Amino acid sequence: GEPLLQVDDLHVEFRTGDGVAHVINGVSFDLRAGETLAVLGESGSGKSVTAQAVMGILDTPPGHVTRGAIRFHGEDMLRMSGTRRRQIRGKRIAMIFQDALSALNPVFTVGWQITETLRKREGMSKKDADERAVELMDLVRIPAARDRLKSFPHQFSGGMRQRVMIAMSLAERPEIIIADEPTTALDVTVQAQIMDLLGDLRRELGTALILITHDMGVVADVADRIAVMYAGRIVEHADVHSLYRNPAHPYTIGLLDSIPRLDDKGKRLRTIPGLPPNLTAIPSGCPFHPRCPFAQDICVTRVPPNMDLGGGRRSECHFADRIVTGELTRPDQED
Ligand code: SF4
Ligand code: MG
Repeated sequence: GEPLLQVDDLHVEFRTGDGVAHVINGVSFDLRAGETLAVLGESGSGKSVTAQAVMGILDTPPGHVTRGAIRFHGEDMLRMSGTRRRQIRGKRIAMIFQDALSALNPVFTVGWQITETLRKREGMSKKDADERAVELMDLVRIPAARDRLKSFPHQFSGGMRQRVMIAMSLAERPEIIIADEPTTALDVTVQAQIMDLLGDLRRELGTALILITHDMGVVADVADRIAVMYAGRIVEHADVHSLYRNPAHPYTIGLLDSIPRLDDKGKRLRTIPGLPPNLTAIPSGCPFHPRCPFAQDICVTRVPPNMDLGGGRRSECHFADRIVTGELTRPDQED
C-alpha cells in the first residue's frame, strides 16, 4: 500500500554565528504501516533534526526547511494548515525523547501525565482517564500499575520513567512513533528491556516506528530497515540483514567495526578516525572522504551518485557496487 510517511528530498538549514549550517542535505525515505526503520549515525549527522522536521518542531528560526516534502498519507505536512498539522503531530505521529526525566513534569503524578492529552484533547473524564492510564501502564509492563498511578516521576527508576514516556506516546494510538535515542541514558540491561518492549508493542499494536540511534548494537533485533546518515544525507539504506552481512558504504563498515562483540574479547575495537564535518563547511566531493580508508582522488572532487544496488538497497559511494560484493576490502585491514 501507500507509505504512511514519505520524506522527499528534505533540506534543513540552521543559521549559526559561523554562517549557514547545512544540517539536512536531501534526505528521502518512506515508512510503511507497522514497519521499523532505524536511523543511524553519529551525533551531528542530522538524524534528530530529521525527526524534528517531521514533528514540526523546527518551525521557528534559526532552523528551517528550505526544500522538500514530508507526506503523511500522501498529504504534505509542510504545506497544510496549522490546525490540520496539529491533528497529526503528537497524535497520529508521536515522539519519545531520550531524557525521560526532563521530559516529565516532576510535580504531577505519572497517571496524570500519561492521560493529559486524553483529557485535554479528547475531553476524557478523570475516571476514564485513570482506567486508560492503567491499561497503558500495563501495556508498557509497569508492574502494579493501579498502585503506581499516583506516583511521581522521581519515584520511578530510569527504565520505568522511559516506560512512562512510551505509555504517554501511545495514549492517542498513534500510527507512527519516533523514538530519538530512547535508551541512551539507560544502562545496558535496561536498554535491552526497552528495545524488547518497543519490539513487542510494534507486534501487538502494529505501530510503525522510527528509531533514531547512534548505537548500531541496539537496532539489529528490532529494525526492518536501516538508514545510515552522515553529514545530513542518508549514505546507505538497506534491510537490516543485508546491511549487517554486506555493508555497502565505508561509513557503515566503520560503524560495524566499532560495535563490541562477545567473540572479540581482548581485541582492540576499531573506531572511525577523525570527526564528523563542520556543517557550515562540508568537504568537497564525498563528505566522508577525509575519514574514509577507501578514498581515492575522485572522492575529493566528485559527489558520489546515489547508487541503486537492487533489493531496495542504496549507497552513496563511488565504489559501492564493489564494496557490497566484497571485491573491494578495507585497504588498512590488518588481519
Ligand atoms: Fe569513501 Fe570515496 Fe566512497 Fe566516499 S565515495 S565513502 S570517500 S570511497
Ligand atoms: Mg540527537
